[in-house]
Amino acid sequence: MTVTPHLFIPGPTTIPDRVRMAMNLPMEDMRSAEYPKLTLPIFEDMKKAFKIKDGRVFLFPSSGSGAWESAITNTLAVGDKVLMSRFGQFSLLWVDMAERLGLKVVLCDEEWGTGVPLEKYADILAKDTAHEIKAVFATHNETATGVSSDIAGVRKAMDAAKHPALLMVDGVSAVGSLDMRMGEWGVDCCVSGSQKGFMLPTGLGILAVSQKALDANKSLNGRMNRCYFSFEDMIKTNDLGYFPYTPATQLIRGLRTSLDMLFEEGLDNVFARHTRLATGVRAAVDAWGLKLCAKEPKWHSDTVSAIFVPEGIDANAVLKTAYYRYNTSLGTGLNKVAGKVFRIGHLGALDEFMVGGVLFAVEMALKDCGVNIKLGSGTGAAAEYFSKTATKSATGVTAPAAAKAA
Ligand SMILES: *Cc1c(COP(=O)(O)O)cnc(C)c1O
Repeated sequence: MTVTPHLFIPGPTTIPDRVRMAMNLPMEDMRSAEYPKLTLPIFEDMKKAFKIKDGRVFLFPSSGSGAWESAITNTLAVGDKVLMSRFGQFSLLWVDMAERLGLKVVLCDEEWGTGVPLEKYADILAKDTAHEIKAVFATHNETATGVSSDIAGVRKAMDAAKHPALLMVDGVSAVGSLDMRMGEWGVDCCVSGSQKGFMLPTGLGILAVSQKALDANKSLNGRMNRCYFSFEDMIKTNDLGYFPYTPATQLIRGLRTSLDMLFEEGLDNVFARHTRLATGVRAAVDAWGLKLCAKEPKWHSDTVSAIFVPEGIDANAVLKTAYYRYNTSLGTGLNKVAGKVFRIGHLGALDEFMVGGVLFAVEMALKDCGVNIKLGSGTGAAAEYFSKTATKSATGVTAPAAAKAA
């Protein structure tokens, strides 16, 4: 095979050449007097990516799960009550971690295909007049089911109850692709990772924290044990442009370029591109006569679509066919939806051409596996939508249709 495999899992995502080249450099001295010239501006620019003015962003050499752990162990105490919801493999794993770290979880167990239950949250928070709940957790984008939740709505529910709890958000498959207004929404810890919207290899656990979260860290009684993921050690060294241990220097070089690319395109344009490309994918799913795992349009994710195969078809067979026949990786169904859904990751460095490519492969794989669809139906529907709404391509080249319209 001389062609690069086509990667359409919802992370790791495709790495743009410019980012890959930026990481192709000799190992560098992370304790040199020059190094802070790279790191200090990155810390500031990361705050822009999360839209916070105060607080800070930590870069741990770990996957996103490390940032989950850091958020919990630095701001909460063993035995603290927290409000969480579970509706997919990733929200499930965060609940599991919280319980294993000794938190008492007030759990909303929701149907997979739905998201954070705002009304239930509002109810529970309003009744908690003693403010026993110390933190409210929300998964912004449940990658297993392709469900996005309303984080501004969670903030509203907390404000309506005048509840002082911390707001913890898992933004791993959201930040850099979906709008995250950490400051405006009063998010206290926002977790991310390098291999999704930031278009990098896996290996940076990214955690943005508010001033309130930093204060909680200082004032905590009965604090949790922590070491590798401690805020304090990071702050001491980060303030000078360094890290308490060896940073992932190449990933940090790559992050510099990813941030440059995101800001050059403009964050709002990046979000709009994700919405547009996701809408094209959904048009294809509709045209195939298939159903998304996300139950209602309000849950639709613009970064990943989980798609049900028809009864009697094995989703894993579709995945295998796409992989072996068409050199294309799709996301598997996880846990409760294993064998029932396949997922298309549509986040990061992506344009219409790439979406067309994955839909082309999916269409063939579905047909090969016995699904009754017409080849060209989904790709055609997506193409209709893209050509009707064409403005500017991701590379900034004005498309002919738009030029004529203008
Ligand atoms: C990918 C993902 C994670 C886990 O990140 P890792 O980097 O695999 O540790 C957590 N939450 C969500 C929503 C994700 O998509």
